[in-house]
Amino acid sequence: MKKFNRSFTQQQPIDANGIAAAVAVMQSGRLHRYNREANEHTETDLFEQEFARYLGVNNVLACASCGYALAIALKSAGVVAGDAVLCNGWTLSPVPGAIHNAGGEAVLVEMTGDFCIDLDDLAQKAEQSGAKYLMLSHMRGHLVDMTRLMTVAKRYGLFVIEDCAHTMGAQWDGKNSGSFGDIACFSTQTYKHINSGEGGILVTPHNDVMAKAIIYSGSYMFYGEHPAAPELSVFEGLYQQIPNYSGRMDNLRAAILRPQLAEMDVRREAWNARYQVIEQRLRQSKAFNCPVRVGKETYVGSSIQFRLPDFSNEQLQAMVDRCQASGVVLKWFGAAHPQGYTSSYKDWQYLNLAASLPQTEALLATVMDMRIPLTFSLEDCQQIADIIVSQAEQIVKTTKMLDLTNQDKEGGHAGTS
Ligand SMILES: *Cc1c(COP(=O)(O)O)cnc(C)c1O
Repeated sequence: MKKFNRSFTQQQPIDANGIAAAVAVMQSGRLHRYNREANEHTETDLFEQEFARYLGVNNVLACASCGYALAIALKSAGVVAGDAVLCNGWTLSPVPGAIHNAGGEAVLVEMTGDFCIDLDDLAQKAEQSGAKYLMLSHMRGHLVDMTRLMTVAKRYGLFVIEDCAHTMGAQWDGKNSGSFGDIACFSTQTYKHINSGEGGILVTPHNDVMAKAIIYSGSYMFYGEHPAAPELSVFEGLYQQIPNYSGRMDNLRAAILRPQLAEMDVRREAWNARYQVIEQRLRQSKAFNCPVRVGKETYVGSSIQFRLPDFSNEQLQAMVDRCQASGVVLKWFGAAHPQGYTSSYKDWQYLNLAASLPQTEALLATVMDMRIPLTFSLEDCQQIADIIVSQAEQIVKTTKMLDLTNQDKEGGHAGTS
């Protein structure tokens, strides 16, 4: 089979409009978000306004990163040292990092086979821990039944922070991901849905929370100059109470994000066309188990996850190695040691976790994860899927042959003794 020879980490270039806007910012020399002329709307202001319109929310704050936004989200929500924060057990390390940063005590919740938070375990752990906060990470863009989740949250009085790093452009039952909970945070890091290298966005319907978040983000006395924010009276008395955790976005990043945001829904369709080519091919083979994505979930297929539930650890490692040799980069969450961007809850020892997550561990043991950059064509995706399926089938075939030979040997041995 022909080797695939394109890069899994190659992004699309910043388009001409973004480059022109970035050059204009550089020519002005006014890169800092509060460095403006009278009545000027900076690129950061405009990006916040446009994101507010896009998501259908009033309050938007652009930050230095999503991990940063998550940390000040927790602080703005009122988390103080020692407060329990519920969080799904499979996510990216900036999420437990944000809980630690805000002084929270993480209480991890199990995952289901469809890569969503287990709502029964959530209810149980909310009950047991008495936690008042939920950090809900829509890991790799899989949305749990948000209607049910919000019912559980309401029952236990949970303040919900959505980590939407992989769900910009996604919806549950026609409602935008990030508009369900009390706060939502998005990432504009290179491998997410819009790309400024680094960057984060915090949104909330609560004016008091937004006022705090703006001051935490390092507004100095310019908090009144935010366009997608509550009126000045909401900030009264706050700046003396809230420290400056300096983590603003700058005009250069905002300038290249604006044209990308305008294309977000086009990008979603492009991602999903690629995702579906790969998913359809995998579903034709019995070795693979693909998560069910129900009709109410409008997802963004910027990556794909699948399981090889009957594969042993040796076979899974062989799968990664063989695909790598064929130019296809898979990440295996069950590997003994974290690699690249991925780690598992067992690696987050700074959290001092009390309980283990057997269900999540069993799930992750056979999960493969693959990025789908938009620089791949549909033909590329077909070729990638063919490689994945053929490698899995070869592994199954070789193992069967080995089993047969072993059985012969054992049979022969038994017969002669
Ligand atoms: C990338 C990511 C983050 C953090 O984003 P940064 O902008 O890199 O800080 C948080 N959660 C998930 C699930 C992510 O994938």
